[in-house]
Amino acid sequence: MKVELRKTFQFEAAHLLPLLPPTHKCRRLHGHSFRVDLVVEGECDPQMGWLMDYAELKEVFKPVWSQLDHHYLNEIPGLENPTSENISIWIWRQLKPRLPLLKEVRVAETCTAECVFRGETPA
Ligand SMILES: [Zn+2]
Repeated sequence: MKVELRKTFQFEAAHLLPLLPPTHKCRRLHGHSFRVDLVVEGECDPQMGWLMDYAELKEVFKPVWSQLDHHYLNEIPGLENPTSENISIWIWRQLKPRLPLLKEVRVAETCTAECVFRGETPA
């Protein structure tokens, strides 16, 4: 049985989007309570009755989360233009080698705006 797990994380960070015109509000320094959803998919272990331990998901994400939380995202190598799209891709690239079951990275800047990234090569 194929199953999908989702775990939600949150981090606080500041950013600005340097490629926008000076008049755009996102060009000014501002902050968000970002929400990150990690989605993993795979075969449910019939013995254990689970795909993986949520705690393991948290453990794998921790070093990535630490780089983001309460940081100025523009200063992070690879996030010089920290759009939700680029943050999603950046998280994916760091996690995928250590989390082969990763299927989706979702990054939301607000309650109503979210980016979904499903990897660089379509399945
Ligand atoms: Zn923003």
